[in-house]
Amino acid sequence: MLSKIFLDSKHPISEKSIDADALKVMHRLKRHGYSAYLVGGGVRDLLLNIAPKDFDIATSAKPDEIKALFRNCLLIGKRFRLAHIRFGSKVLEVSTFRSGQTKDSNLITHDNEFGTEEEDALRRDFTINGLFYDPQEHAIIDYVKGLKDIENRILRTIGNPTMRFCQDPVRMIRLIKFQARIDFSIEAETKKALIENIDEILKSSPDRILGELFKILETKVSSKFFKLMDEYGFTHLLFPQLSSSLDGDSKELTHRFLELADGQEIHQPEKNILLACFLYPLLEKKIQSTYLDQDKVPHLGEIYSLTKELITDTLVTPFPRFPRWMRETIAFILNAQYRFTPLDPKKRGRKFKLMSHKKFPLALRFLGLRSFMNDRCAQEYGRFRRINNRSKL
Ligand code: ATP
Ligand code: MG
Repeated sequence: MLSKIFLDSKHPISEKSIDADALKVMHRLKRHGYSAYLVGGGVRDLLLNIAPKDFDIATSAKPDEIKALFRNCLLIGKRFRLAHIRFGSKVLEVSTFRSGQTKDSNLITHDNEFGTEEEDALRRDFTINGLFYDPQEHAIIDYVKGLKDIENRILRTIGNPTMRFCQDPVRMIRLIKFQARIDFSIEAETKKALIENIDEILKSSPDRILGELFKILETKVSSKFFKLMDEYGFTHLLFPQLSSSLDGDSKELTHRFLELADGQEIHQPEKNILLACFLYPLLEKKIQSTYLDQDKVPHLGEIYSLTKELITDTLVTPFPRFPRWMRETIAFILNAQYRFTPLDPKKRGRKFKLMSHKKFPLALRFLGLRSFMNDRCAQEYGRFRRINNRSKL
């Protein structure tokens, strides 16, 4: 049931924190007789006083009608057409209200019917993500009792949680993403359904899971998020090899790396570095058992083979379409570590020709994480930064 709440000092949303182009787009749609709202994560974040990552707009205008109003508009998507309105490098997503599946638990295979404003709110995943904001009236349109849940800091599915998770199991991963990110508590029924339906995640398309995971890796909460993934059993289901090899010390080391990477102030989180945080402790373990325990020191080519094997077993086997450029970047970051700090502790890291490689800064950033844990790494990090800065002059 609709409730329209005019915002006051209790729910401050400052017009200044809303993207000026998003406001223009909404005003224009409304001037032409359509309804248009800010929706989803943008509204949630504004109410929580967090800078939104994106400003999505939902409207009663159909895709062709949107296109007719904006010259800088491109329609994308085959089954459900969305409008992308471009302002310089920024793209605003404008979608026509659509209906969702609300009555049965079958896996959603299509999500492409136009719907009413209310249906559009009800098809969304969590109550905190189902709010619409009308900037002209300065009001929240709440069909899902989301405002109350934001006030009480509660994560709750819209509708029956078991049904909503079975329709689209990726919602379970989104749930723990929000738990890690905004630290709300999960409402009891939602939590019960989560725990009972963990296995359903295997029915989701690996590409969608990977897409959601990549987004999370860029939000500075990866350490917290992957602890929750472990606790609920998702790591074991989605990354069986990684989960069985990461134990005791290596797991602790991974979390220490992730915490350091999440905490870096000067850099935006980078997903290849974060993935290297998982694989580096495993690579160290593998080098130890395959070579060092046999009193052998592997050369760089042998380390490269071990790295490739590791990436295949842990990432590509569960996610066959894991992007090739990312595999190569992660391998580069990992292998460069053995050039910065050769396995023979008497040797110093040598300047190498890959310093001119465009991914070199990522490898150096990873050495920066290692430098918090080890004096030798700290020394080499300082040295390579100096060499690198000089070479830029
Ligand atoms: P983030 O801040 O990470 O972008 P978000 O909630 O904005 O979080 P998006 O992926 O940008 O997530 O999705 C925008 C909105 O679309 C969500 O707020 C939610 O309303 C809806 N949504 C996204 N994924 C789903 C899903 N799997 N099922 C139902 N609704 C979804
Ligand atoms: Mg978003």
